[in-house]
Amino acid sequence: MFDVNKIVRPNIKALKPYSSARSEFEGIAEVSLDANENPFGFGLNRYPDTSLKKLKHTFAKFRGIEQNRLIFGNGSNEIIDLLIRIFCKPRKDKLLTLPPTFSMYSVSALINDVKEVQVPLTANFQIDYPVIAPLLSDESLKLIFICSPNNPTGNQMNPEVIRKITYSFGGLVVLDEAYIDFSGGSLIREEIPNLFILQTFSKAFGLAGARLGVGVGQPEVINLLNKVRPPYNINSLTQDKAVEALERPELIKRQIEILKDEKAKLEQSLPEIKGINKIYPSDANFLLVEFEDAKAAYRKLLKRGIILRDKSNQIENTLRITIGTPEENAKLIQALKGEASKEIGRIGKCARTTAETKIYVEVNLDDPAGSVSATGVAFFDHMLDQVARHGAIGLKVQVEGDLKIDTHHTIEDTALALGAAFNSALKDRKGIERYGFLLPMDDSLAQVAIDFGGRPWLEWKADFSATHVGKMPTEMVFHFFKSFSDTARCNLNIKVEGQNDHHKIESIFKAFAQVLKMAVKKNESGLLSSTKGVL
Ligand code: PMP
Repeated sequence: MFDVNKIVRPNIKALKPYSSARSEFEGIAEVSLDANENPFGFGLNRYPDTSLKKLKHTFAKFRGIEQNRLIFGNGSNEIIDLLIRIFCKPRKDKLLTLPPTFSMYSVSALINDVKEVQVPLTANFQIDYPVIAPLLSDESLKLIFICSPNNPTGNQMNPEVIRKITYSFGGLVVLDEAYIDFSGGSLIREEIPNLFILQTFSKAFGLAGARLGVGVGQPEVINLLNKVRPPYNINSLTQDKAVEALERPELIKRQIEILKDEKAKLEQSLPEIKGINKIYPSDANFLLVEFEDAKAAYRKLLKRGIILRDKSNQIENTLRITIGTPEENAKLIQALKGEASKEIGRIGKCARTTAETKIYVEVNLDDPAGSVSATGVAFFDHMLDQVARHGAIGLKVQVEGDLKIDTHHTIEDTALALGAAFNSALKDRKGIERYGFLLPMDDSLAQVAIDFGGRPWLEWKADFSATHVGKMPTEMVFHFFKSFSDTARCNLNIKVEGQNDHHKIESIFKAFAQVLKMAVKKNESGLLSSTKGVL
């Protein structure tokens, strides 16, 4: 039976960890004069919550597990290092890895002066159990690192074999599930005492820059990690961002779906390219691809500004391709085919940063794939989704707004950036149309007409009885279209009647989407729709 006390290093077992006044005190202090902080500062003057209360609560709920099974690290890299330091005596103990796999296990072993035993994966990249089985009784073997889906091969390991290893091993099996959200099949809810799961916010959650890894294990193992981890190892910004991501599961799910679709498209198009021999099946957000000459392909792509990961040192003639946005993937395919790079569609971008908002908007008037809106205001995201979906327009909206104040700047500045992105995508506005649309939705009837004539104007006849729909103030609907018409340089004429404010607003956005779709469509003449000859 697994007994953590038998495998932990004696110095760690005896360790009395660093303790702060705040970790000893349970209540809410009225005056905090305990940690030598500057009471003024810039909003980050206090040390972060070292007990990670909100993050733990939110993550445990998200995964359906107990909070006392969780540890967080500065990336999963930090947890890998902590595990080796806790369980492996330098120059005495060993750990086992299954190459080709994630190289940090080896690097951390080297840093800690711990011997690494390697048992290569089989020819189809599965665990070679018959070779591992006799090693499991070696008492100096403390940790086994298994990566599933495995980096760089992309495949999942057989879970039966993982379970079998844990049953006959006295040490800890570390199962790295960094890519699990792209495939499913996590073992996180199996409470096998010597199974320790690693996950990360760097992949599916899109927070690589925040540096946040998660470890899930038996509470006794978690207690040891808590003793050794540096105090305050997860900063406040990271804690807040992670909670924000966990509270928007629909958005994460949609991004994963887009990436899976894009992976399927690449799996179709890559084999048709000369010089590519093989695409390995992948359960992750990357593809391992075998080339006739990987190094030459790597260099050719670098010259075009495209960087892939050369994995030839682990698997001959292979490059690892991370799945990107639809445009990035299309650029990769063009470059691999040796085609001149061309913009796929009429694309307009706007990055806008002020003291109140940081915004990135990208529109693609000719390719609706991969639209995502993330403004932090759910109802507003829902409206932008209408614009993308009903307008058949590719739309990427990423906003960090001052929502602590209210939603005003976020909505107004998004509209300004959206209008500017349209303005840029339309370029000289040759060959586009002018349109109007009438759209019923239950009790409501919305009428929207648009002219991308080059001058801003908004005619507005809409009254709302509620102050808000969701967290979006109804007065911001007018403001959104006014701001859009200003920067997109278009005339907008909008009218709505009806009773229900949600329906009225949604029907306006849907009708707006329809007129956008028609107005930006290229007409056959390719000429300017103006007698002046210029818009
Ligand atoms: N595990 C695996 C298998 C990985 O591929 C990576 C990153 N490439 C990591 C862990 C590192 O994760 P983090 O960013 O959380 O340190």
